[in-house]
Formats: sequence, C-alpha cells, structure tokens
Amino acid sequence: MIIRKQFKFEGAHIVRNCTSQRCRENIHGHSYIVEVFITSDRLDNGYMVMDFCRLKQVKEFIESFDHSYSLWNRENQEFKDFIYRYNKRVVEIPVSPSAEGYALLFFYIIDQIFRHTERLNGEGNIRLYSVRVHETATGYAEAFREDLSWVNFRMDDLLFSPDITAGWINQEWWDKLKTFSYENR
Ligand SMILES: [Zn+2]
Repeated sequence: MIIRKQFKFEGAHIVRNCTSQRCRENIHGHSYIVEVFITSDRLDNGYMVMDFCRLKQVKEFIESFDHSYSLWNRENQEFKDFIYRYNKRVVEIPVSPSAEGYALLFFYIIDQIFRHTERLNGEGNIRLYSVRVHETATGYAEAFREDLSWVNFRMDDLLFSPDITAGWINQEWWDKLKTFSYENR
C-alpha cells in the first residue's frame, strides 16, 4: 500500500545549463506541487500507514522553500552576493533547482526525517517510496531511492537564510536531524 500527501510552495530559481534559454538566463518562479509517497509493511493501531499529522516537519521543510530563492551552490560568487543582498529568503542547495534536482533533494531530506520520526502508534516499517515535484501543471519529476546514487551531497550542503530559520516552529529540528543523520549513516 502507498499513501500520498501533497505540499505546495511558490519558488524562484534559474536552471543553469538547461536547453531553454528563458529558463537558464532569467530569474523566474513556479507554483510547485510536491507529492510525498509513503509505504509500510503493516497498518498502525489506527489502521493507517502513518497519520499525516506526523508530517509536520516535512511541511516545515518544504515551506522553507516558499517565497524563497533556490540558489545552486555552484553559482559564481558575484551572483550569490547579489541574491543574498536583495533577498531575505534564500535556500542554498547542492543541486541545480530543476524539478529533478528538487525531487532528489527532497527525497534525501524527507527520508532523513522519516528515519528520525518516532513510532508512537504501532506503525510498521514506514518507508519513503518516492517524491514527485511538479514544476508546472503538465510535468513532474519523481525521485526513487535508487536515484540518490546520481547525486552526492550532505545535509551540511543546504543553507537556509536567517529569515527562513526564524520562521521555523521547531528551531532545533535541522541541527538535530543533521546530528542524527551523521550518526546513523
Ligand atoms: Zn523554472
């Protein structure tokens, strides 16, 4: 069985090196839809795979990208300085912010969140199955576990600007997750 939860964010980016000149040379935005697919080997005490109320940290993570600029960390320093100078909400990321890049990045982080989520109601072996990122109404990229072999990054490679972290309900979640992630590799 697979269950699915949908999230949204309004994000800005440039996709360097892509074929479309419009996309690679202009800051622009999309209304992203993120679908998270979750599987398990059995039902919890409430006959659920996982209660969606357990996804609060996933929501907070994805909302960090809302009204934010997604800055590829391989941009040149002059461009980075410009983005940071004129934008409060910036997430620096180790992948180019294509739908594919987001799907891989989100899979990696949401998987870490799941591994760190306590089982409180008899849940089984909850596993992240895939993450689908829709950049437009007609196209999406879906990342699966095996696709993580295409990329190589660590949680330290993500940087949230202070305006984003100040809005987090749980201020410690990112540092706690990083510690957990490095201890359980
Ligand atoms: Zn775009």
